Amino acid sequence: MEKQRLWDETWLLFADMMAERHSKCASKSVACVIVKDEKPISIGLNGTPSGHTNCNEIYIKQEDGFYKHADYVASTDLDMINEPARLIRGGVTYIKCTDPYDHHHWSKQHEIHAEINAIGKLAADSTNAFGATAYVTHSPCHACSLALIAARVARVVYAVGYEHGDGLELMRESGIEVLHMPLEKMYKNTL
Ligand SMILES: [Zn+2]
Ligand SMILES: [Zn+2]
Repeated sequence: MEKQRLWDETWLLFADMMAERHSKCASKSVACVIVKDEKPISIGLNGTPSGHTNCNEIYIKQEDGFYKHADYVASTDLDMINEPARLIRGGVTYIKCTDPYDHHHWSKQHEIHAEINAIGKLAADSTNAFGATAYVTHSPCHACSLALIAARVARVVYAVGYEHGDGLELMRESGIEVLHMPLEKMYKNTL
């Protein structure tokens, strides 16, 4: 049991590091690592399909909200009465999004969740997630929970409760062991 906990923490820290260092979403860094028979068999990050423009090439998140690359702002979206806040980074002009859900809507259309990316990668291999554990930095959303159920994973371990995450009960009802393990971000043995 203690050994399992130590490995759970290790893979979750690995997922957390993958997310922090490699996710290209301006809003949230999410990763999903699928481990089976003590081996990582797939790693998924949240983001656009490969070859597509990354979220962080379009959006920048600031304390006061999201800013969008001027090239991606339609003139009809510009508030002509009030001058929108601007931000210049690396010679590129970003304009403050008037709609706080601008990124949210764009993301729904263009970004794939980490869990779906991880499960999708397995389809290209000869392996599968049957009986595996999915380590996710954020609790899976409804759609990803359904995908994890369909992929027949046995366990889901997550670090942060995600505000849109209503899939936990769904997974538990399907017989998946769901474990919340907040991370201390320490790499030594914390047991
Ligand atoms: Zn994004
Ligand atoms: Zn999801």
